[in-house]
Amino acid sequence: LMGFVGFANLPNQVHRKSVRKGFQFTAMVVGESGLGKSTLINTLFNTTLYPPKEPLPPSAERPSTVAIESISADIEENGVRLRLTVVDTPGFGDFVNNDECWKPIVENIEARFDSYLEQENRVNRQKIVDNRVHACLYFIQPTGHSLKPIDIEFMRQLHTKVNLIPIIAKADTLTDEEVAEFKARVLADIAYHKIHIFEAPTYENEDEEAIAEAQEIASKIPFAVVGSDKLVKTPDGREVRGRAYPWGVVEVDNEDHCDFVKLRQMLVRTYMEELREYTNDVLYEDWRTEKLLSMGV
Ligand code: GDP
Ligand code: MG
Repeated sequence: LMGFVGFANLPNQVHRKSVRKGFQFTAMVVGESGLGKSTLINTLFNTTLYPPKEPLPPSAERPSTVAIESISADIEENGVRLRLTVVDTPGFGDFVNNDECWKPIVENIEARFDSYLEQENRVNRQKIVDNRVHACLYFIQPTGHSLKPIDIEFMRQLHTKVNLIPIIAKADTLTDEEVAEFKARVLADIAYHKIHIFEAPTYENEDEEAIAEAQEIASKIPFAVVGSDKLVKTPDGREVRGRAYPWGVVEVDNEDHCDFVKLRQMLVRTYMEELREYTNDVLYEDWRTEKLLSMGV
C-alpha cells in the first residue's frame, strides 16, 4: 500500500461525520387551505406531524394574517438521523384581500437567513443550527385552467429566496388528460413570468442511469400528487396508502396513478443534499452579499 495516501476515503469520512451529527432539513408548505398540505407532509415522511385538528365552528374567530408554524420531528432510518422541520403557513390565500400574503413568508425566510448569518459571525461557530428553508412546496389548486394571480405573485416574490417546487394538489380530481394539459399550462405560465423553479442538477461525468433518472424526475414537474395517510384495500386485496372511491382506489405509491413517488425521490431520496447545497451556495449567498452591500460593508 506504499504511496497510498488514503484521501480516497474522504467521501466516506464526510458521510460518517454527517451521519453522526445527523442532518437538518427544513421544508415549507404553502397553498390555500384544504389543498392537502398537512396530509401530503404526513404521507411523505410517514409520520403524523400534524395531529388531526378539530374543524373550527363557523362562528369562531379566524386569524386575519398568514400564520407561520413550524413543527419538528427526529426521524431515523438505517441509523441515519434526520431532524425534519416543516414550516406551515396557514391562512395563505384565505382572506378577502390576499395582495400581500406572500410578505410574512418572505420575512420568515429572511429571518432564518439572518439567524444563520448571525451564527456564522460568532466567535464559536462549532454549533451552527441551520434553520434555513431548503425547499418550498407550493400547492396549486387543481382548477385545470391556469395559475392564478396569487400563485404567480407568490412565486415571483419567493423564487430568489427559496427552492420552489410546484405541486398540483389533489390530482385525483383531474383526469390524466386534464393533468397533462394543466401541467403544460402551468409550466408555460412559469416560463412566461421568468420564475425559477428548482431543477434537478445533472453532471457531465454522471452515468447514463443517473441522467435518465434526473430526466424522469424533471419530466414530472409540476408534480401531480395525491396524499393519504390511511391504508385502504384494493379490489385485488392489497393494503395500500390511498383514497377509496366507489369506482376504485387511487394509490399514492403507484406511479401510474400520481407523481408522489417522483416527488419523494426529488425531495428526500435523491436531491435533499442538492437542495441544501443550492440554498447555502446560491440563495443564501446572494441574500448575504446584498445584505452586506446594503450595510456598506
Ligand atoms: P391543508 O389545509 O392544505 O393542510 O389540507 P389537509 O391536508 O388538511 O386536507 C384537507 C382535506 O383534503 C382533507 O379532508 C383531506 O383528507 C383531503 N385531501 C388531502 N389530500 C388529498 C388528495 O390528494 N386528494 C383528495 N381528493 N383529497 C385530499
Ligand atoms: Mg394544514
